[in-house]
Amino acid sequence: LIQVKNIKKQFGEKFALNDVNCDINKGEVVFIIGPSGSGKSTFLRCLNLLETPTSGQIFFEGNELTKKGVNVNALRQKMGMVFQHFNLFPHKTILQNLTLAPMKLQGVSKADAEKEAMRLLKRVGLEDRADAYPAQLSGGQKQRIAIVRSLCMKPEVMLFDEPTSALDPEMVGEVLGVMRELAEDNMTMVVVTHEMGFAREVASRVIFMDQGQIVEEDTPEELFAHPKSERLQNFLSKVL
Ligand code: ATP
Ligand code: MG
Repeated sequence: LIQVKNIKKQFGEKFALNDVNCDINKGEVVFIIGPSGSGKSTFLRCLNLLETPTSGQIFFEGNELTKKGVNVNALRQKMGMVFQHFNLFPHKTILQNLTLAPMKLQGVSKADAEKEAMRLLKRVGLEDRADAYPAQLSGGQKQRIAIVRSLCMKPEVMLFDEPTSALDPEMVGEVLGVMRELAEDNMTMVVVTHEMGFAREVASRVIFMDQGQIVEEDTPEELFAHPKSERLQNFLSKVL
């Protein structure tokens, strides 16, 4: 589904990504772990062109994204992205937040957009909050809404950048639960997280990044039980 070839991303003198190669297949759940500053967010942001790689190529569904003149907006509709902070429109209701983009960008009728939004709200247990405003929701609820908002666009892949790290601990579980269900439904997912236990349970593959490079990648069983490089051993000894 996604092929990344030799991408580099430079900020001034610094290489945030230094020759990253990676293939992501349909239905895979790829977790990215690594120390702060290792390039995890930059990698994710390059995938949907929130950052432009300095060099290298990215292909999505066989089409090169890194060519000039690519329709970035069309691409982003196929890639849902969920960040640490949810960025819901504060003066719109939950239902309005969810139906805005499908109606505006995909020409979906109001009735169809609302029907799909309500179906997805039900799935995450929040159908009774459709007419609430974001400020009336807890952090965990808002993050579940942010996930639903992406799903309303019927994306081919979902990108998550530390979706639980701004949440109070008691709210982490409900968001991870929604992500787990998505993974079980065979959604293609790329997840940056510090939740190692969750990665171990849900990932089909785990990538360890350090200093802008992929140092190791393997199944979670292998990677956590038998880290090969000293860098990964060292990292795991700090986070497990
Ligand atoms: P964290 O776990 O702290 O979120 P990360 O692995 O996501 O870290 P990135 O945010 O991808 O790391 O950053 C990789 C490197 O690139 C860091 O050294 C960072 O300072 C640098 N960097 C990232 N974005 C920018 C930017 N817009 N301008 C300059 N440098 C940047
Ligand atoms: Mg980051």
